[in-house]
Amino acid sequence: MCGIVAYIGKKPAQPLLIEGLKRLEYRGYDSAGLAILNGGLNVCRAVGRVANLEDKLEQTGGLQGTVGLAHTRWATHGGVTEMNAHPHRDDKSGICLVHNGIIENYSVLKTYLQEKGHVFTSETDTEVLAMLIGELYEGDLEKAVQAALREVTGAYAIAVICEKEPDVLVCARKGSPLLVGIGSGEYVVASDASAIVAHTTQAMPLDDYNVVRITREGFRSSDIHDVEVSPKVMQLELDLEQIELGRFEHYMQKEIYEQPTALRNCFRGRIAMEEGKVVLGGLSAYAKELVRAGRVILTGQGTALHAAMIGEYMLEDLAKIPACAEYASEFRYRNPIIEDGTVVIAVSQSGETADTLAALEEAKDRGALSLGVVNVVGSTISRQTDAGVYLRVGPEIGVASTKAFVGQVAVLSLITLFMARRRVMSADQCARWLEQLQTIPDKVERVLEQSDRIKKVTERYCDRENWLFLGRGYNYPTALEGALKLKEISYIHAEGMPAAEMKHGPIALINEGMPAVFIANKGRQYDKVMSNIAEVRARGGHVIAVATEGDEEIKRHVEEVLYVPEIIEPLSPMLTVIPLQLMAYHAAVIRGHDVDKPRNLAKSVTVE
Ligand code: GLU
Repeated sequence: MCGIVAYIGKKPAQPLLIEGLKRLEYRGYDSAGLAILNGGLNVCRAVGRVANLEDKLEQTGGLQGTVGLAHTRWATHGGVTEMNAHPHRDDKSGICLVHNGIIENYSVLKTYLQEKGHVFTSETDTEVLAMLIGELYEGDLEKAVQAALREVTGAYAIAVICEKEPDVLVCARKGSPLLVGIGSGEYVVASDASAIVAHTTQAMPLDDYNVVRITREGFRSSDIHDVEVSPKVMQLELDLEQIELGRFEHYMQKEIYEQPTALRNCFRGRIAMEEGKVVLGGLSAYAKELVRAGRVILTGQGTALHAAMIGEYMLEDLAKIPACAEYASEFRYRNPIIEDGTVVIAVSQSGETADTLAALEEAKDRGALSLGVVNVVGSTISRQTDAGVYLRVGPEIGVASTKAFVGQVAVLSLITLFMARRRVMSADQCARWLEQLQTIPDKVERVLEQSDRIKKVTERYCDRENWLFLGRGYNYPTALEGALKLKEISYIHAEGMPAAEMKHGPIALINEGMPAVFIANKGRQYDKVMSNIAEVRARGGHVIAVATEGDEEIKRHVEEVLYVPEIIEPLSPMLTVIPLQLMAYHAAVIRGHDVDKPRNLAKSVTVE
């Protein structure tokens, strides 16, 4: 969600900032802009794509200068207009700023600033912060930023420059991610590593309330009360190739096909087959607490919540620990009860999801042991949890999550077995599970080989505007995930639910030819699913079934079958979800949508 890039160094800032914005495009946005210092302050903004901003810059001859900041906006306060696009400025002080997040008390501050004579040109909360910094500016940008941030509530990542201090860049964060890339004599500040790695692999992630003042000679890290903070510099593990499209047409397609490799990387070094054991270095220090855990709460949003729901089933089923999966946004505000021995697992691809972070904070305050299941190394959740396990699936650029989902399910199955083996499972039993787990990457490959056939099936139905996705048990969350994928990139209305729930209301929707996707692989509830299939077809619905290879009989009961290899039921979502991802992808392409930039969506949702 939203992208910030800022630069101070010796190179021309404009091409560098534009390139950085393009790397951040995947995060989702609706308008863009940049500002460069060159004697005075020059600002250029445009609605729509970064390409529009580039065109505008070209028409006006471009901006010179070696200090600047740029932004892709995902509107929260005020419509998508050029006036609301960032950067925002305070003309009196010459301050200019880009912001990601929401200033929650902007309204009172705005009234205060208006009384002081400030005139606003946008409807944004961000402009209020620019004016506030300007109001408090007394010749020291760093101090003015600190003072202003002491007055605001909400979430922010900001980068600020000032006409009167042309060799200074100040940035700060609370709640929204920001990294300072450290080069030699130059610094690139950005929302995530993808905009930094082309320039340097050394970076410093900002913590909440961190304020960093940067010049070409070095930087100073403090907090909003001006107390010095010692910087934590880390090595970025991302390389450029990983974030480039290569031979694929879309990032989502690339990432769907990367899943076998992603899973192999996820399992590498974590499965000790001879000992029938899972090795998770990130959890070993807390093994005792995990063995004694009384309850596990898994929390996330969107796709991550669907993975969490599968984790809930596995933890109860295999490790015999009471578990529940909850929307982070709901958990946070409903006064949750955390007893002694409660473990909370925060699931998030980016590790920056604001709702999940807030839930995590709440659970920690109430005494829970916190674990992170995240993909982005060094992300906020990974730093704020007691322990955790990285997905290791590589960067996910596609807005619709695919490889992160299977990675999350894979990691949750490893965590389950890590706990199960220490609580209730023998080495032999655990080894049998691990054997099954290791077959999954090859089996995913087999499903991917059917892409053309899946495309043909999708073609037959993708003009329909309403779809149902139905599954039971472990594949109820898979049904939710299938519906979410279709909604996200194809803009088709799709509902996912437990197959049994359909007859409690949604069955009223079924009419002639309505597509209903059933996850009908072999498992404990196969017969019940088959009954639900019959109920849909009796009302004219057309059934697309995801079934287990070798199940020839099912062909007589459904319109279409997509096969997945046989696998032990708790692990099946990692296979059954693949045809659903491909269906959503093909539907979006056939319907002519921009798969990697779906309307209204942001990749990592950094506001609550
Ligand atoms: N709240 C700000 C706005 O609406 C910033 C949104 C963003 O994060 O892009 O302009």
